[in-house]
Amino acid sequence: MRNLYLIVLLALAVLLGCDEGSVRSEDHMALVGVTVIDGLGNPPVPNQVVLLRGGRIVEVAAEDGYEPPRGARVIDLAGKYLMPGLIDMHAHVTILPMGEDGHAARSMDREASERAVQTLLAFGITTVFNPAAPAEDAVALREAVAAGDLLGPRIVTAGNPLNRTAPPFGPFVATPDEDSVRSEVQRQAGLGVDAIKVYSALSPELVGVTIEEAHAAGKRVVGHLQRTTWTQAAELGIDAVTHAAPWSAAYLPEAEREGYKGSILDRLDWLEMVDFDGPEIQEMIAALAERGIPVDPTLIVMHTKFWGDDPRHRENPELGLAPAVSREAWQRGTFVDDWAPEDFARARELWPRLLELTRRLHEGGVPLTAGSDLPNPWVIPGVGLHQELRLLGDAGIPPLEVLKIATHNGAVALGLEDEIGSVEAGKVANLVVLASDPTAALINTRAISHIFLNGVFVDPSAVLSTLGD
Ligand SMILES: [Zn+2]
Repeated sequence: MRNLYLIVLLALAVLLGCDEGSVRSEDHMALVGVTVIDGLGNPPVPNQVVLLRGGRIVEVAAEDGYEPPRGARVIDLAGKYLMPGLIDMHAHVTILPMGEDGHAARSMDREASERAVQTLLAFGITTVFNPAAPAEDAVALREAVAAGDLLGPRIVTAGNPLNRTAPPFGPFVATPDEDSVRSEVQRQAGLGVDAIKVYSALSPELVGVTIEEAHAAGKRVVGHLQRTTWTQAAELGIDAVTHAAPWSAAYLPEAEREGYKGSILDRLDWLEMVDFDGPEIQEMIAALAERGIPVDPTLIVMHTKFWGDDPRHRENPELGLAPAVSREAWQRGTFVDDWAPEDFARARELWPRLLELTRRLHEGGVPLTAGSDLPNPWVIPGVGLHQELRLLGDAGIPPLEVLKIATHNGAVALGLEDEIGSVEAGKVANLVVLASDPTAALINTRAISHIFLNGVFVDPSAVLSTLGD
């Protein structure tokens, strides 16, 4: 870890140059000549100066006639694009190693987790939400970053996901009744988690109890749901739901509900049978939109299933960026190992339906966020979020809105919009500088030249070079 800090400091020295020995504070910087994309959805503004001091943005002004204040280090960013640091809203950064039996361990592999955190930063991600994890480990990792012991994005975290039943491995915890829900929420709140995660088999009644108990403790509730519909969860007061679709039988035509079991393969049937114009889906979109409840589509984690046999994922040249424990687990098995070639072919045919639901949520006024769901099979830390942005673009969402989804919307979903998620005076200086225009093509979010984390310059290639393979 110390090595990494040394590299960051060296990179800083190179970047800033060694200038006539004048008094220049390291954290007082004028980024000049840059095109600013504010993250709020406003059009890019060229030829700007962004002044940083004390880890914050203190001023955003036109470059023309601007005199940088005495003592500020001037960094020429002419021809470049500056936007808020990205927020990965679904990053299980507490990496749980998989045993030979294919079961996740109950606690994290510290080294793999630290590596994932650093990799995310190198991809311009300055904040992550960890939506399910062993609570103690998740809080410990969050605190390591907060204390400066680990260089990485700020972590906001949930703890062990609450489900009706739980296997004796992995992070899940069984909360089959009201008492167990309440005591688990209290346990996690006592450990210091930021949010509570409810999982797919929990009944609407117990999702309601969780929300009541969590809100009383000042914690948000995030749902990966199926038995409880998104409509019910919205009415119960949930704070966010994750994944591209609710997959609940209740959204299907009545005659089809009984036969639908809801496995991953059954989701193809769901996509085929669901009527987006029907009253159930329309009511769901309205229920989420009216209350401003964000949906985190994590399209990439479905794409890696629908194309789970495809070399673009299985032989992705960037696989080396994933922790070895994750890569080994993915090689051993995935969620779609039992799919036949016909299943993959059908999945690809139905993929546009999933994109259409995403677009309908967006156009229906539901705030979307951007998440990768690392380390699910073939979802590489950092790489996965940039893939997600392009998939949101594929859904028909204009690039400027996708960038807002990946920055400001994430900040709002975390209740941190006064601190992060936009390029405005007063905000934390979490910034990404790109060599190419991301509003021209979302692939350009990968063209990262500079990252500023809490106002400190981070050289992305220097960080990656310390990680090796
Ligand atoms: Zn997840």
